[in-house]
Amino acid sequence: MRASQLHQPTLREPPKDAEVISHQYLVRGGYIRRVAAGIYSFLPLGVRSLEKVKTIVRQEMNRAGAQEVFMPAIVPAELWQESGRWDFYGPELLRIKDRKQADFCVGPTHEEVVVDMARKDLRSYKQLPVNFYQIQTKFRDEMRPRAGLMRGRECIMKDAYSFDASVEGAHKSYKVMYDAYQRIFTRLGLDFRAVEADTGNIGGSMSHEFQVLAESGEDNIVSCDTCDFAANVEKAPLPVKDFPDLAAFGSSPEPSLEHTPGAKSIENVSRFFQLQPRDVIKAVLYNADDQPAVAFVRGDHEVNEVKVKEALGVKSLQFADAKWFKERTGLHPGYVGPYMLENINLASPRGSAPRSVLDWDIRSMQTAVTGSNQHAEHHYRGVVPARDLADAQYADLRMAIAADPCPKCAGKLRAFKGIEVGHVFYLGQKYSKSMNATFLAQDGTEKPFEMGCYGIGVSRILSAAIEQNNDARGIQWPVSIAPFEVAVLAVDPSDLAEKLYTDLLAAGIDVVLDDREERPGVKFNDADLIGYPLQIIVGRKAAEGIVEVKIRKSGERLEMSTADLVAKVVKAIVDARMGTAIQLGAA
Ligand code: ATP
Ligand code: MG
Repeated sequence: MRASQLHQPTLREPPKDAEVISHQYLVRGGYIRRVAAGIYSFLPLGVRSLEKVKTIVRQEMNRAGAQEVFMPAIVPAELWQESGRWDFYGPELLRIKDRKQADFCVGPTHEEVVVDMARKDLRSYKQLPVNFYQIQTKFRDEMRPRAGLMRGRECIMKDAYSFDASVEGAHKSYKVMYDAYQRIFTRLGLDFRAVEADTGNIGGSMSHEFQVLAESGEDNIVSCDTCDFAANVEKAPLPVKDFPDLAAFGSSPEPSLEHTPGAKSIENVSRFFQLQPRDVIKAVLYNADDQPAVAFVRGDHEVNEVKVKEALGVKSLQFADAKWFKERTGLHPGYVGPYMLENINLASPRGSAPRSVLDWDIRSMQTAVTGSNQHAEHHYRGVVPARDLADAQYADLRMAIAADPCPKCAGKLRAFKGIEVGHVFYLGQKYSKSMNATFLAQDGTEKPFEMGCYGIGVSRILSAAIEQNNDARGIQWPVSIAPFEVAVLAVDPSDLAEKLYTDLLAAGIDVVLDDREERPGVKFNDADLIGYPLQIIVGRKAAEGIVEVKIRKSGERLEMSTADLVAKVVKAIVDARMGTAIQLGAA
């Protein structure tokens, strides 16, 4: 491709709504343009990079034995009613009507459609296992679309669904996908981790997210510095903490009720008592299956809703509305504490104590400040959990953080931010049962399929890759995702640039020739902003058969003779296509 014929509208300034770097560079580099919130057009460069990602995904899915299908984006409501998700899915599901007023949705995911497909044509165990995948535009009416392609409303996804005759078979299919994902993200040149993930309301233990490590990520992940344990903090269990020996504390006075005007937040309360947040007990108020409930964690910890839900053994858990909570319990939200919590109906004839559960770490607090329950603007100080909260219910309730103990070995956890680019999930019979999708098993009975589902955020990968590969000048694409692998920048007019371009094309390199009538500075800036991994600058020394070769990612610049240049470039690019850095070897 010649840059003179390429639509590459690069911009000097990022759009106003672009906070994260990948969003800025995707727009400035001429990859995407916003159409509406979370909805984008892909320009030629964007399509090229997107197609490269799709190709790698396809190759590895096919290699793993999955078969490509293509399902409709518009799905009749009946299928979603059958699975029960029409009511359950909430406002992320875009519901539409056709001219006959029949209900449809724009598919955010395709379990229903694929299960319907399977139950029509897969009749016998002899046809199993099978794995269907597609690459398709999904629509999710996200509450907060953000960061360009990172969290769009429209997004391009690869979704796959495996059908097996047995649990063991499904586990095998899961492993095959897990391995394929390792290859895909390696080939894409991403620094990623496969982490254990929460399985939500589906249950079971098998779910892994593939997380690209990046500061701008929305997910918090931890990994062990010693063993191979890695998990989303939502999932990472923490070991039990027992009560310390009370005798070791010496004798301390009874808790005292203190007037704490204006002190409500953990920060203010700890400042008021000249203590640290870790010395205060934080209360998080919930509506748990329509009953008031409280989870208590140390002030410097974050509560983990997945764990709270499990500890309380409830189906639904939402943050409590303050007014509702007060009406139901008589407690002042903001001043709820675990000490004397059961006695509150003495304080308020209307209320009854909420259910409560405390995090294990509270047990080892020597002395704590807590809400007082009876009154607003009052706290107890000097609560000794080992003495005063010995009978409470304790559980693992908080998010794991850096330096926490590993749940699998004696190591310590490290914390990272991640961008979820893929998700493998063992589904079991959740959809096959509700949609009555069965096959004839070997023992002659009809059985529901054992399923797994496997997603990859194809468009999100572009954002994730840029978050990991950029500098102040622009994008530093891995070779496998770059819109062009090599750019030949014709700085001084010469036949050499033209010849290098045609030779590289002939050798199968995806190369662009910047033959525009622009100043050299413009060409350099565009090449760096767009992020061409290898740039060949044909300048003043062209007549002597010498060019400058620049590796975008490392910033390395070499003067090279044109004699064996094409062979060297081809070798370097072909090697780097598997996801590694470009190595040019000795010039
Ligand atoms: P998230 O927690 O980020 O909302 P999810 O759990 O809803 O993701 P899945 O339903 O597992 O995501 O979808 C499969 C993959 O599709 C995800 O791993 C992610 O990479 C991608 N994806 C999901 N939602 C979006 C979105 N709104 N924009 C871009 N990519 C997305
Ligand atoms: Mg989501």
